[in-house]
Amino acid sequence: MPITAYSKEAQRELDLEQWLQLNGLQTAEAFKQLDVPDWLRAKAGTDVECSACGALGATLVRSARSKGSGRAVAQGHFRFRTAEGGNPHHPLCDFHDEQNVRGADYLTSFASDKSALTRAIRDLVCRGISAGIFSQAEMRAMRLWFLEEKAARTILLDVTPEQLQWCSDMQATRAIRNAGSLSFIPEHGSLPGFDWEAAAKLEWARRNEPLFSEIGPHVYFQRQSLERPLRLLDQHAGQQVLDPSALREKYDAALHLASFAAHHLFEPGTKPHALAREHPYYWKPAAAHPLLALSALLLFLSAWDLQRASALFCRVKTAPPAPDDLLGNLVGLNPFHDYQAWLVINAARRIASKRTDTRPVAEQVTEVKAEMQAQHRIWAGSSERDL
Ligand SMILES: [Zn+2]
Repeated sequence: MPITAYSKEAQRELDLEQWLQLNGLQTAEAFKQLDVPDWLRAKAGTDVECSACGALGATLVRSARSKGSGRAVAQGHFRFRTAEGGNPHHPLCDFHDEQNVRGADYLTSFASDKSALTRAIRDLVCRGISAGIFSQAEMRAMRLWFLEEKAARTILLDVTPEQLQWCSDMQATRAIRNAGSLSFIPEHGSLPGFDWEAAAKLEWARRNEPLFSEIGPHVYFQRQSLERPLRLLDQHAGQQVLDPSALREKYDAALHLASFAAHHLFEPGTKPHALAREHPYYWKPAAAHPLLALSALLLFLSAWDLQRASALFCRVKTAPPAPDDLLGNLVGLNPFHDYQAWLVINAARRIASKRTDTRPVAEQVTEVKAEMQAQHRIWAGSSERDL
């Protein structure tokens, strides 16, 4: 559910509020209720394009409020449908799965705090455009650049849900690693209460070290981080999809700049935004979209040089407020929309091609445990003879 989309008539990227205002809907109450005349709803269908793939058929979705507290739980946004109710997005569009992106994730991601973030980004985008630091044409150029990158760097999606689960089981064998863990020797088994299961998992992990080195930094196969990759597998199995390794450095730079921006986004003295307190790798994707979209644009305009892009951020942040807050917004232009999920899938792909034993991890660990216990018995037998 894109927060911003491209208006052909206005020739700019806009969020829903901005688009309604540009079309003459002024009252704040009308936004809340989304009391929009029919002609304007019809116009949305032909004027508003998906930022990522250019699909038409936008419908307007009002912001949702919690029945209990009355607090905003979902930001107003665009949703794209064909006249027959089908999905008009390109199969590889980041927003193809808008219905599925909804649900619990959607509701928590756009609580009022996150809408404040979207507004803060909108304010910066308007300042940047008004001060001539960037333009709508450059925003559009970034969108086209990413579409081309996606098309040029693809791999066949041949990962299965079973392989993802296998990687999850694999990573879990190291979950109990701590400072007291040493490589197994038979003597360890003589300790009272020795945990054979934990020791066998660590031994299995040690023997499969080359597989772990394929995971890469900040890739997690935990249940929560597998939800999105599993949906993408379901949607794109057997298709050519983005090869995320091609954009890894750019993604890391965008996260770095987004983290910097999160620290300096709101006025001094106000509580730092929740995003500023967390490492960007742990940000919930939806919460990070606005910041990543802005960071990607600043980097795109700085030849992906982090220091230059941070200087650009400072110029935007200190530019005078824009006289018009309808100049644009770019939250739907985050080129790294699903990037974390693609990293997980790609790591699973590398691991699947490198593993030599495809049996379930638990079965292999049981085998290792039996082997270790046998070694211990032999050692115990020989040490008894030594006595
Ligand atoms: Zn689309």
